[in-house]
Amino acid sequence: MSHSLLSAEPGSTHLLLGNEAVVRGALEAGVGCVTCYPGTPSSEAPDTFFSLAPEADYYFEYSVNEKVALEVGGGAALGGVPALVTMKHVGVNVAADPLMSLAYIGTPGGLVLLSADDPGCHSSQNEQDNRYYARLAGLPCFEPASAQEAKDMTRDALLLSAKWEQPVLLRTTTRVNHLRGPVTFGPLRGAQTRGTFVKNPSRFVPLPAIARQRHPALLHNLSSIQEEIGQSSWTRHSGQGSQGIIASGISRAYLHDALADMDLQESFRILELGITYPFPEQAVLDLLHSVDSVLILEELEPMLEDQVRLVCQKHGLQVLVQGKDENLTQLGEYSTQSVRQALLRFQGQAPEEPDLCSTREGLPGRPPNLCPGCSHRSMYYAVRQVFGDTAIYSTDIGCYTLGFLPPLRAADFLFCMGSSVSGGSGMAQATGQPVVAYIGDSTFFHSGITGLINAIHNRHNLLLVVLDNSTTAMTGHQPHPGVDQTRHGPNPAQVDIEQVIRGCGVQEVSTVRPSNLKKTLDILKDYKEKDGVRVIIAKEPCVLFARRTLGRKNPQTAYVAEQTDDVRRCLEELACPAFYVQDGEIQIDENQCSGCMLCVQIAPSIKARKRS
Ligand code: SF4
Ligand code: SF4
Repeated sequence: MSHSLLSAEPGSTHLLLGNEAVVRGALEAGVGCVTCYPGTPSSEAPDTFFSLAPEADYYFEYSVNEKVALEVGGGAALGGVPALVTMKHVGVNVAADPLMSLAYIGTPGGLVLLSADDPGCHSSQNEQDNRYYARLAGLPCFEPASAQEAKDMTRDALLLSAKWEQPVLLRTTTRVNHLRGPVTFGPLRGAQTRGTFVKNPSRFVPLPAIARQRHPALLHNLSSIQEEIGQSSWTRHSGQGSQGIIASGISRAYLHDALADMDLQESFRILELGITYPFPEQAVLDLLHSVDSVLILEELEPMLEDQVRLVCQKHGLQVLVQGKDENLTQLGEYSTQSVRQALLRFQGQAPEEPDLCSTREGLPGRPPNLCPGCSHRSMYYAVRQVFGDTAIYSTDIGCYTLGFLPPLRAADFLFCMGSSVSGGSGMAQATGQPVVAYIGDSTFFHSGITGLINAIHNRHNLLLVVLDNSTTAMTGHQPHPGVDQTRHGPNPAQVDIEQVIRGCGVQEVSTVRPSNLKKTLDILKDYKEKDGVRVIIAKEPCVLFARRTLGRKNPQTAYVAEQTDDVRRCLEELACPAFYVQDGEIQIDENQCSGCMLCVQIAPSIKARKRS
């Protein structure tokens, strides 16, 4: 039976994750091409497209990185096909190059870029506000506040994009991507998977002379879109009074909750901005003309606030503007509670004592950790045995970043996706110390290959460990070009990582199974004595992927046969979460133990037995 996202009747209501709602919205707009690089908090959007792909008409791909995803989507949109490209906020940094040019040349079929921002760094290395990209590139920017809006805005963004032939940014935040809410469906358009490219090099080839013409064309379009936004149902006025509130994104949801809690629904004039760029100046001006003061609610950067202050200055308005302060900061997420406090301050009242739920006292801390039996742990353990603290460890983005805490201490520095190879090269060059760089298989394809080619060409001195777990583990087991199996079956076009590395010109390449400790140590010791670029591919499937997708379960488990010093040393040096201490004795939880047998190779008092 067809999935409800593909078949449910218009008018029916469904409880959806924000990311699933994005999928339905795109289907309602007739999306014909979906590309992505998975990244939390966006991942469930492309994963849902991937799940539906066998019974749907659109073209879908997990691209090797965000730049490639946007270029594939951009090519499709130039060919007249509506395209959705999804990524997390930092991915837009990777895709920024084509993004700037696509805004100039335009996207006749319609192209929406989903940027899932992460205020509060729940799963990210920074909390950048990608509304700046809308302004930088010149993209209309939609900001949903609920699952229903995620659906409707995705549809409207694609339609607006096709109408004006301009790419559009759909800027969500973690809270919107991961909330669940009721969504009433609209009619589906059949996927438009084939289009026609109308050749027009004087538009689509932005040589300097053409780019100079396209920039004013973009500005002209934006000015027309600005007028349209002012009239759009996504720009909403409500309420009354001499105090105004302007809110965007998820802050709108917090605002409505806070107003309802405090019974203040009719106390303020409210302007809700669903589309924040181009800035709907006239709507803001209308509000400012009718109030003495205005409170701006927006997470992260004071973009609307700055714009509102500018409008006041431009029009000589004496309106008190209240925005970022010591409570409504540029850091992290807002909440109903923080907005409630802001409303009280805005009314000149003392803030109330926050009524927050708290965690129970005395709960043990739970630092980030690799799963029991994770092959990264085996490799990190082996590398530490050989290099200890003599090497500098350059790491990258993925599950393996979780190995940074003691005792593995596998990370000394990190910049971004793919940086471990090139950053490690620079570190080795600068310090003359041995550098071990770690990179995952998906990240290797994403942006590690160029760093490796650079390292070879410039004769850097680096040991690179490719932690190949046969999937993209951290974001939910998405496939990449190197996998042999996906959820939909075998991958007939597998790209061999070792062949790629050899093709880049690396002479010293070995593939090891990190759970084979002796062989892994032998190759590490050998490579430690050599210079130049050396690569070890540590190949062993992610335990969860092996169990869930490949259907593999190890029949054995480890157990502690005798309480000896080597068992304690193993616990302290390995820190496998399957170990626990009870009544002073070290034990292994059979349910947690994956049976990787690493501890058995380290401590003679730990033995293997058949799983009970
Ligand atoms: S999900 Fe897989 S790769 Fe990630 S920590 Fe767990 S076992 Fe390791
Ligand atoms: S075999 Fe040992 S190291 Fe591997 S998961 Fe079990 S307890 Fe942990």
